[in-house]
Amino acid sequence: MNALHTPPPAEKLSLNTATVKTQWRLDQIIEGCARHDIRGISPWRDQVAEIGLSRAAKMIRDHGLSVTGYCRGGMFPAIDKAGQLAALDDNYRAVDEALEIGAACLVLVVGGMPKGSKDIDGARQQVHDGIASLLQYSRKVGMPLAIEPLHPMYAADRACVNTMAYANDLCDVLGDDGFGIALDVYHVWWDPDLRNQIRRAGKQRLLAFHICDWLVPTTDLLLDRGMMGDGVIDIAGLRTAVEAEGYSGFHEVEIFSAANWWKRSPDEVLLTCKQRHLECC
Ligand code: ZN
Repeated sequence: MNALHTPPPAEKLSLNTATVKTQWRLDQIIEGCARHDIRGISPWRDQVAEIGLSRAAKMIRDHGLSVTGYCRGGMFPAIDKAGQLAALDDNYRAVDEALEIGAACLVLVVGGMPKGSKDIDGARQQVHDGIASLLQYSRKVGMPLAIEPLHPMYAADRACVNTMAYANDLCDVLGDDGFGIALDVYHVWWDPDLRNQIRRAGKQRLLAFHICDWLVPTTDLLLDRGMMGDGVIDIAGLRTAVEAEGYSGFHEVEIFSAANWWKRSPDEVLLTCKQRHLECC
């Protein structure tokens, strides 16, 4: 720990349920959070579907957990009009689910290029159009959308929005009302323009703050995220930067780790998340 580091309030920790998804069902994760006094949770749609939306919502409410985000909407680009409309329909359902579960925002992983396409500009246009359509609905029902820029290594297949600058550009074009950014340190830590873009986003656009760490070497593009403190990201520095803009929300731990954390006892994972949050965030 850096001598100048001020630990964050423990109650700011939130658990993205992907972090222990191979060990526990959502009902067990909710109970685990309550047992370990983790006050925030960010569930994934497939895990919610597995135990049922109304049961998930009730359990989360009964345990007094804050839902710091709902994962996830997006995946807008498709090869044809029918595919685009199907994607949009699914996003409307995601907004409805996010409302029922009491989420602070619906996180958007916007999608990459449709299979067989080499048109990344076209994919980005589809993302713009998809979000513009979805906003007409999400604004009416009051569910903020948080676009999550993903590391450029995912541009082809997961998200063609890869920088905070591009996410800010979309906010400029589509408007800040009910629309902002989920900043995940894993995806943006490397960006030389990051500090400027955090300032540009400001309090209004910063809707979520996701933490984990970048391991050296990283052995899998998707499933080798590190626990805070085990890698090279200045997580505390980035928390200071977003909080300097007025961000006062949760610090959401989101770790996909097939070879390590997904193999450990989930209680150990949660205890480690709590400890590293205080030490490294
Ligand atoms: Zn994230």
